[in-house]
Amino acid sequence: MPKKRAASAKHAEPSVKLSTRGVARLQGRHPWVYRSDITEEKDIPPGAVVRVLDQRGKFLGTALYSSSSQIAIRMISHGSVPDLPALVAERIRAAIAYRKELVSNSDAYRMVFSEADFLPGLIVDRYNDVLTLQILTQAMDAAAVREAILQTLRKELQPAGIVERVDPRIRELEQLPPLPSGLLWGKKSSTEFRMNGEDPKGVRFHYDGLEGQKTGAFLDQRENYAAAAEYAHGEALDAFCYQGGFALHLALHPAAKCSSVTGVDSSRPALEMAEKNARLNGRELEWIEANAFDLLREYAAANRRYDTIVLDPPAFAKTKRDVEKALGGYKELNLRAMKMLRNGGILVTCSCSFHVGAADFLKVVADAAQDAHKSLRVVEHRGAAKDHPILLNVPETSYLQCLILSVSN
Ligand code: SAH
Repeated sequence: MPKKRAASAKHAEPSVKLSTRGVARLQGRHPWVYRSDITEEKDIPPGAVVRVLDQRGKFLGTALYSSSSQIAIRMISHGSVPDLPALVAERIRAAIAYRKELVSNSDAYRMVFSEADFLPGLIVDRYNDVLTLQILTQAMDAAAVREAILQTLRKELQPAGIVERVDPRIRELEQLPPLPSGLLWGKKSSTEFRMNGEDPKGVRFHYDGLEGQKTGAFLDQRENYAAAAEYAHGEALDAFCYQGGFALHLALHPAAKCSSVTGVDSSRPALEMAEKNARLNGRELEWIEANAFDLLREYAAANRRYDTIVLDPPAFAKTKRDVEKALGGYKELNLRAMKMLRNGGILVTCSCSFHVGAADFLKVVADAAQDAHKSLRVVEHRGAAKDHPILLNVPETSYLQCLILSVSN
């Protein structure tokens, strides 16, 4: 192709102009700019790589464009990006190197966490020799980017299988064609993984990338499982146990001192998997299928007592509007649990609602303690495991609270 044509094609790279507020967000190092802060955009194809300009046309960096999301652009670089697939490959290698520094004793963890690894719209989880990936934006869905992702993961990690887990709602929001979940590469989509112990020790779990619930496992709680096991003792109850993450650690982790562990969840398939997981570790535990709110109420009325209770409910506040109601839910659960704990008992209480911030959560737990006539000592205030990095300028990356409390009469 003649040089001139190439140069003019380069010049044609689409650009967006931002309002002053949009510019301020980028200067604060938040990677998202909302559509309402874009003042100029013309015929930009979905998922394009765009040059970002201020009102006077000054170049601010490069972003990934979405034609449908309210988040119109997500910054990918503060310089120019001549080759997006190559940059994605480089960032994936960096994310893998970061995990090598920070994760030990486990073969399941989040390898790439979207904005927190400077790869907006890409999530990769490792479950031993099976990798799962989630593609959440138009730009990451482009064929050349997908190819770069697969190549890099194969080359760097040599997995036995790579599974794509699709959230149909997200593809619809991004106006991407529907796609089934499935194996993208290799032959293996199910495996066993282990957490919090040197090979071959650690707590073991089954993983099936194609079956089960959309979420896979709650990898963000990995370090909290081990921390909870350090303090747990006596009779323990894991409400909202899912496939047994906390319960199994309370029963099996070398630090754990529990005499009995009961897991509660409203989902039968989750409990069936929890039971299989217990067996994989050579143990039988008690699993109860129930609504945890009702069960705690019943047990409290019947004067049941525990020494350790874990509360890890689903996100009660999915949007800002739900916050009041969510706080009510957290208060009720924590109040009931505190009343059921023996003096000196341990309460492990979590919130994964981003819209309920750390201060709100501490306040609601403190209010519950007041109503329960208990005093709380904070043993640890924790967040997500280190493989789910928090970007300090991006509040959305900090969503998980995990308080370990010592509860006194
Ligand atoms: N602690 C788990 C994750 C819990 S996720 C882990 O670390 O793996 C939240 C769980 O709450 C899900 O398994 C869901 O099935 C369950 N759940 C939702 N509402 C419930 C209710 N009212 N009572 C009991 N379980 C509920």
